[in-house]
Amino acid sequence: MLSKLNSQIQAHDTNVVFTRTKSERSSAKESPNWVRISAASAIALGLKSGRFAKEFDFGGINLLLNYDDGCRSDCAYCGLARTRPGDYEDKSFIRVEWPLVETASLVERMRLLEAKLTRLCISMVTNPYAFRDTCTITDSIVQNVRTPLSILVAPPTLNRTKLEEFKARGVDMIGIGLDAVTETLFRSLRTDVPTGGSGLSWTQYWKIVNDAREIFGPWKVNCHTVVGLGESDFDLIEMFDKLVSREIFPYLFCFNPEPDSRMGTTPKASITRWRRVQLAKYLIEERGYRVKDFMFSNDGSLVNIKTPSPRELIAAANEGVAFMTNGCPGPNGEPGCTRPYGSYKPSESYRDYPFLPSTTDLQRITSELDLEELI
Ligand code: SF4
Repeated sequence: MLSKLNSQIQAHDTNVVFTRTKSERSSAKESPNWVRISAASAIALGLKSGRFAKEFDFGGINLLLNYDDGCRSDCAYCGLARTRPGDYEDKSFIRVEWPLVETASLVERMRLLEAKLTRLCISMVTNPYAFRDTCTITDSIVQNVRTPLSILVAPPTLNRTKLEEFKARGVDMIGIGLDAVTETLFRSLRTDVPTGGSGLSWTQYWKIVNDAREIFGPWKVNCHTVVGLGESDFDLIEMFDKLVSREIFPYLFCFNPEPDSRMGTTPKASITRWRRVQLAKYLIEERGYRVKDFMFSNDGSLVNIKTPSPRELIAAANEGVAFMTNGCPGPNGEPGCTRPYGSYKPSESYRDYPFLPSTTDLQRITSELDLEELI
């Protein structure tokens, strides 16, 4: 069985494009027949050689729609931004390489390895064909692989009817890449500044969040939020409170500058700030804390956590769960989408851990968190 599988892997290797020559840059290699997958997904599926810094089970497969003319949006921090220099097909996304693969081969590969997969996700981009092609790819996946499927949606391409169609086709969860947690920040970063074009609509994003919540139900919708785009700790914690109270998951990402993007030279959040935000979100999600339980300075920085028991707070941090990667769950509620290297380079220490941090990891986290200063 294994040798048969390996020969199939070899066969599928021919469909993986890591370094593209000019002749390979043909419009035929667009979605729905072709998609990009994250480098980590390619490794997990045996389509690319490589290993993670530490061995751990990895079964989250992230797909990204691919078009010759790319994503029509132009967000200041995104590697796929329309005005970021370079050919679309050579651009990175959340700083990692996304090799191009033939969809049919990929689905067959996922079918063969279904037992080790935990979560599948199609990331849309802002493109007129994105909805149509996402439906086609969804059908192919749902008919062949039982692993739960999420869609990280592109709200400009959607409406309520289209969300209902996703649901009818078997999509399990919906993610919305809100990223910026205030309207002011959203408008300033997700706008086509260099060309003076109009940007993404905060109102439309929230319409899709609200419709998705109604259609897919509690804890079946998530909003991606990014730390380090210019928001305050208060802005983030207020947003976590708002989402959790509506039974919508807030998923955390750490801003990681993409070279040559408009925010390419903006530094990422300090590790201490990042750890504290991770802990605050965990306390809201899992320990019943609300925004009123946190105190902030005039500029919105977190300065104190009100707790009846500092010892319990320290114990909560020491569990380590707060510092794990956020993502849609696997079939049994386990971490499903763990996106290794989504928020940090392979050469850097983990910003979020795709596994439960070890005792050694926790010693490092404790020092980075400096919790005593907050209690
Ligand atoms: S957490 Fe992962 S699976 Fe869920 S919507 Fe985001 S990228 Fe997709």
